[in-house]
Amino acid sequence: MINKIKDLLQEVENMKAANAEEIEALRIKYLSKKGEISLLMNDFRNVAADQKREVGKFLNELKETTQNKINELKERFENVQTVDDDIDLTRTAYPIELGTRHPLSIVKKEICDIFGRLGFSIAEGPEIEDDWHVFSSLNFAEDHPARDMQDTFFIQHNPDVLLRTHTSSVQTRVMEKQEPPIRIICPGRVYRNEAISYRAHCFFHQVEALYVDKDVSFADLKQALLFFAKEMFSPDTKIRLRPSYFPFTEPSAEMDISCNICGGKGCPFCKGTGWVEILGCGMVDPNVLENCGIDSKVYSGYALGMGIERITNLKYQVKDLRMFSENDVRFLREFESAN
Ligand SMILES: [Zn+2]
Repeated sequence: MINKIKDLLQEVENMKAANAEEIEALRIKYLSKKGEISLLMNDFRNVAADQKREVGKFLNELKETTQNKINELKERFENVQTVDDDIDLTRTAYPIELGTRHPLSIVKKEICDIFGRLGFSIAEGPEIEDDWHVFSSLNFAEDHPARDMQDTFFIQHNPDVLLRTHTSSVQTRVMEKQEPPIRIICPGRVYRNEAISYRAHCFFHQVEALYVDKDVSFADLKQALLFFAKEMFSPDTKIRLRPSYFPFTEPSAEMDISCNICGGKGCPFCKGTGWVEILGCGMVDPNVLENCGIDSKVYSGYALGMGIERITNLKYQVKDLRMFSENDVRFLREFESAN
């Protein structure tokens, strides 16, 4: 009899049911008045007195296990009762394919986050602009080549409606409206009439930063640049500033960082110099402040701007600029882990 109980115990432990009817059938089979367990209970009377204790123990275990198992099946079934019968719940789920962030978006976010830690807030402006915000307010001379049809996309032959060639127009818009202190970072897409090749495109992305307050000095600019370079690339990154010219800053500089590929030893990427140029910067020209209604005798400021494609190239060594706008998923998937 003990063997019979053990067999039943095994059977009960493995029992399965697909619906309420099957659970009920199992309950009747084992637990009803004429069920397997009741029959065993009846037989229990004939068990020899010296075995009653042991057999009784097994019998109780069987009864309890069966009851628990049936309750468990019922519970599991009740939880999915509302699901349509046509759905096969045993099928594996469809994998949810998450997209990946575009490499330019990843780098843009990183740049904005770094300047965010320095207290800069994000400002945005329109891509379709006018001459004042893109050129005149920023000290571009009437005959500056950047205004030329070669460089700028004008809309409908109207020289006062154009696609912005840089995000500096956002700085003008903020300075016109806001009293200093101003501490903004302006990311966005810009357009230039250039032949598309592996190293140039007719649209690309910039991030510019502007800080205007009392007593802002070149030393403040340099400190912000050094902080940015170390945060963006690595803590041992070095920077150097070379004098340059931009219409809207005076003095102006271009910043190089120590080549992050060869560590400054010289490689094909840095053309053997150990340095790579990453951005332009300078002190905001007093004319620009005055154009925007800010008293240049009271306030000073610095500005800096960089191409997001350039920084992305440095971080990920993308050799061909066109990859950024072709939406080739094989290229985009490579940035999955950077998300
Ligand atoms: Zn190098």
